[in-house]
Amino acid sequence: MEKIRKIATEEAFSIPEVAEALKQVVRGPTSSLDRLLVSQIYDSKPGASGYGMLNFLERLLDVEDHRLREMNELGVDMHLLSLTAPGVQMFDADTATDLAALANDRLADICRRHPTRFAGLASFAPQSPRRAAKEMQRAIRSLKLNGFILNSHTNGEYLDDPKYWPILEAAEALDACLYIHPRAASDGLKGPLQDYGMDTAMWGFGIETGTHCVRMMTSGLFDRFPKLKICIGHMGEAIPFWLWRLNYMNTRSQKMGRSPRTQLTMAEYFQRNFFITTSGVEDHLALDYAIRKLGVDHVLWAIDYPYQPSKPAVDFMDTAPLSEPDRAKLYHLNAERLFHIAPL
Ligand code: MN
Repeated sequence: MEKIRKIATEEAFSIPEVAEALKQVVRGPTSSLDRLLVSQIYDSKPGASGYGMLNFLERLLDVEDHRLREMNELGVDMHLLSLTAPGVQMFDADTATDLAALANDRLADICRRHPTRFAGLASFAPQSPRRAAKEMQRAIRSLKLNGFILNSHTNGEYLDDPKYWPILEAAEALDACLYIHPRAASDGLKGPLQDYGMDTAMWGFGIETGTHCVRMMTSGLFDRFPKLKICIGHMGEAIPFWLWRLNYMNTRSQKMGRSPRTQLTMAEYFQRNFFITTSGVEDHLALDYAIRKLGVDHVLWAIDYPYQPSKPAVDFMDTAPLSEPDRAKLYHLNAERLFHIAPL
């Protein structure tokens, strides 16, 4: 069997300066639900329980050593890297702007050193939308990065807020996909998600990120930005499974005057403007459903390194009941097209 190129599309990294700033911010007076996870990863003492046990920080800060060896062992050709959640979105606007630029510079260096092994999604600071748009232009035009990463809400606000439109304008004009990655739920949403470990990937992340995407669709912003491309992980943050009901009820809600009038239906926006990745959902039934619902050109493979183990993610895709041309689309062709990664 001919070897198939494997591009993993939601792969996290960090830099020491961002890690240090996160440690400081969770020692301060933040009300953010991200504090639980962030303090366990960035400020844990030896022998601590919780996320501190999993050594994520070491693996986030390493790109060219252990990570590359593991990629070689498993035949993973490329990681599309992104600064890990919550990115720079817990910082003040100036710190966030500076750290996003620094992280983008480091990311571009890594990609230049290993052009067939690493590609990168650029960070920006939504706290300052105009400066964010400038950084987005620099990241694509000068640094040659492949798209953008945003970790859901910023200070409880979502991209449907017109203040963020310069960011959406920039992404659309640059033909660069915006990956909306989870972070913990905003203060307005966090109430019952704070117990039983529900704050993170088990439940809260999907609720937060799915809500973000539904706000974008129902607000009508895709009429203003029809060519905007949004990618979301975790098999679509439950939206594919919910799509029929979202579509039906939104149509009714528009007739009742409760939702803004839109040119297309919610299903049409989701199928036109959204792409999903398989990160952290290794379920062949869910994959089959997502492909049938969205079309095979809108589904991409991802591991979610280092938060998910790589080998099961590779095994999941190798054994998925797909035709070989479809497997190639999920493993690399869709990523090459969406993120402007040069074919081999
Ligand atoms: Mn992730």
